[in-house]
Amino acid sequence: TSDGQLIIGAFDYKHKRVRDVMTSLEQCFMLEASLRLTFQTMYAIYSSGFTRIPVFEGARQNIVGVLYAKDLILVDPDDHIEIGTVLTFRGRQTLGHVFEGEMLDVVFKGFISSANHMLIAHKPLEGSLSRADQLEASPVTGLITLEDVLETVIQAEIVDE
Ligand code: ADP
Repeated sequence: TSDGQLIIGAFDYKHKRVRDVMTSLEQCFMLEASLRLTFQTMYAIYSSGFTRIPVFEGARQNIVGVLYAKDLILVDPDDHIEIGTVLTFRGRQTLGHVFEGEMLDVVFKGFISSANHMLIAHKPLEGSLSRADQLEASPVTGLITLEDVLETVIQAEIVDE
């Protein structure tokens, strides 16, 4: 990335929205809360390479928490424990929510001031509900991480392990 590109990227990203850079729900690597952490499941998580795995109950839309790959260090694959149990043990960390139409500079500021660098994106429903109620009711369409925003700023893929 040249200096010029960086400056253009820094101006350009402000006009982009969550939906322009998010990972769509179909492409998310997610796991069901009732799934047991067998060697095969743990190997699938390892192979995915992702740090944070959204966990759902029933439908993929219904995200109930997030599994951190690093927490698997403490899991014995012979115990076949449920993913939901790991979440409970960890204190059921939840992810924050955004609308897919929100501007990236707003989301960026949110990322900087929060401990969680992954958010669930929703397609807003028509109507006059409050923001919180609307987020609760509207369908999940993807996830966005700080890296998605940073890549837009630097206009290049961040090479990661
Ligand atoms: P990681 O730390 O797992 O490498 P990053 O936050 O660096 O994840 O994001 C890298 C890219 O991978 C981004 O485009 C992000 O949207 C996507 N991503 C992150 N977690 C997942 C996941 N569980 N499933 C699918 N894509 C993901």
